[in-house]
Amino acid sequence: MLPVIVVHGGAGWIGKERAEGSCRGVQEAVLAGYRILQRGGSALDAVEEAVVAMEDNPMYNAGCGSVLNELGGVEMDAIIMDGKTLASGAVSAVKGIANPIKLSRLVMEKTEHLCLTAEGASRFAKAMGVPEVEEESLKTDYSRKRWVENLAPGSNPVESQMGKMGTVGAVAIDSQGNVASATSTGGMLNKMVGRVGDTPCVGCGAYADNLFGAVSPTGHGEAIMKVTLSRLILFHMEQGMSPEKAADTALEYMKTRVRGIGGVVVVNSSGDWAARFTSDQMAWAAVKNDQLHYGLYKGESFTLPVTST
Ligand code: ASP
Repeated sequence: MLPVIVVHGGAGWIGKERAEGSCRGVQEAVLAGYRILQRGGSALDAVEEAVVAMEDNPMYNAGCGSVLNELGGVEMDAIIMDGKTLASGAVSAVKGIANPIKLSRLVMEKTEHLCLTAEGASRFAKAMGVPEVEEESLKTDYSRKRWVENLAPGSNPVESQMGKMGTVGAVAIDSQGNVASATSTGGMLNKMVGRVGDTPCVGCGAYADNLFGAVSPTGHGEAIMKVTLSRLILFHMEQGMSPEKAADTALEYMKTRVRGIGGVVVVNSSGDWAARFTSDQMAWAAVKNDQLHYGLYKGESFTLPVTST
């Protein structure tokens, strides 16, 4: 099987001053994941590595750079799923760690559960020896600025977030034909304390099944949950649609049925892939056959050979 990896850096509207950094970050992340696949590594390791690269990049709404909640705190959600076994692990409303995706992997591999939340997730992180980081180290000038702007009377955080998301995600298929998916986010801007979005919910914030493929979405979490977006896309693929057609059909349904905007990266069990969105922009990048593809605006797709990047 020819390995493939596709990543996104969130659906939304990205200002000119952040467009270049956002595009560069997804390319770095996809290449980090692809290097693992090239060495014969697993899809699971590749999606984790790619998401870690974006959690560590302050450009995105995940890990460092996460949006702030109504009290100005950072609470993060993440999920990882293994298409071979349908095992998954997730954390929700977790605080004070740099890489929620790594903790999700530990939930999958070291517990009997699928998701740990808030205090429980922190206790588990401590027990696993995951280093605690200062909450302030996860905040950026940009996240603080947006939080303050959205405290103003009459402002609508959901409206404003629809313009500027930045959740990160990855899907991959490895040389063994195993697929995996991973998604990580700070959630919605100025969200209520304790709000859990789509990201840590299986079938919403990710799905992976070797029989059909893998999906990682981004967008308004409450809308994504209403239509169980990731599983819906796989359902369409089960019915014979290509990744692109399945993604467009499900995203259109989410738009018309619940007025939700979003985007997805998808790979199927044959290694066909898609990066599709109903928002104005979504930074995405993919590698297949040593070709790097990337884009930001609708209809945009650039290609470079991997060796020259
Ligand atoms: N889906 C994320 C959430 O609602 C937000 C995003 O994708 O930007 O938590």
